[in-house]
Amino acid sequence: MEKCCKFRLYPLSEQSQLMQKTFCCCRFVFNHYLAQRIDAYKNEQKSISRFEQDKEMTQLKNELVWLKEVDATALQSSIQNLDAAHQNFFRRVKQGEKPGFPRFKSKHDNKKPYKGKAAGKNIQVFEGKIKLPKLGHVECRTSKKVEGGILSATVSQNPSGKYFASVCCTDVEILQHESANAKVGLDMGLRDFAVTSDSDEFENHKRLAKSRKKLARLQRRLSRKAKGSQNRSKARVKVARLHEKISNQRSDMLHKLPAELVKRYGVICIEDLQVKNMVKNHKLAKSINDVAWSEFVRQLQYKCEWQRKALVKVDKFYPSSQLCGECGYKNAEAKDLSVRKWTCPQCSANHGRDVNAAQNILKEGLRMLSA
Ligand SMILES: [Zn+2]
Repeated sequence: MEKCCKFRLYPLSEQSQLMQKTFCCCRFVFNHYLAQRIDAYKNEQKSISRFEQDKEMTQLKNELVWLKEVDATALQSSIQNLDAAHQNFFRRVKQGEKPGFPRFKSKHDNKKPYKGKAAGKNIQVFEGKIKLPKLGHVECRTSKKVEGGILSATVSQNPSGKYFASVCCTDVEILQHESANAKVGLDMGLRDFAVTSDSDEFENHKRLAKSRKKLARLQRRLSRKAKGSQNRSKARVKVARLHEKISNQRSDMLHKLPAELVKRYGVICIEDLQVKNMVKNHKLAKSINDVAWSEFVRQLQYKCEWQRKALVKVDKFYPSSQLCGECGYKNAEAKDLSVRKWTCPQCSANHGRDVNAAQNILKEGLRMLSA
């Protein structure tokens, strides 16, 4: 199993300078060889391979000695990225699409990670420190233990200026939880993020709404600052920091909840929601984006795979919230989202909307599993 761990870095000023240099050199290499490919394509309708360009880079480095200062494998990865973009371009042309040629990387592009490949002991993780090619030991917060063989380390800087290293490892053994036999159904909603068939409620983050309001205010302020001014760049960092906070708040929940569920249950049944269709409904759109169901399902899916737990997706047309969990009577009135509680006209069972739906999803999921 391959697994990545991301660590926050606290580089010394020389180290951050070298990282900036590496970002620049990678961009330079990408653009240089992209130009070469474009020329070759326009003049001779010929494509240049990654290996030819790899070879040629030795010569380029002799001409431009500053390229030698930075991690050589990062430059190679840059050519690899270019090659992938190029292959993708040709694949789409073959399929009859009209894609744009891969684009030059701009100096103002904030997304500028570079990937250093492991060779020998050039990448190592210690307590509070990480060894990276050319940079040496960089102080970092090692929150997780790195297991397995290290493949690569990707160094990045986010828009608010923080540095990170994402260490990718292979042959990571996943600790198996005790095999839980418990089964659960999940009803996902807007009021609560999810309600389980065991009546557990997982809340939506109200904090997110608060942060979003603040974000709107900061963005308004940013738009009033003069272009190119010092104040504008300060305001931009503030906006970037808040964006970061919002995405942290989200990903915190999106990681913890699936982990908790996979620990507790052996079979998890969910609705196969079509988030894209639902987002088209604008009233619901913002809250659906906030609660980020699709990301949640993705996380749940791969955690279930790791732990060999069953994840069952119930058809989205299954009327989980309208059926009586006791007798199976279909109550069309419960289709209305505002109906929170209802009593079955046939068997007089009392239902809470979400728990009843979750129990129905569990029932249907188990039926599908046995079929
Ligand atoms: Zn009933």
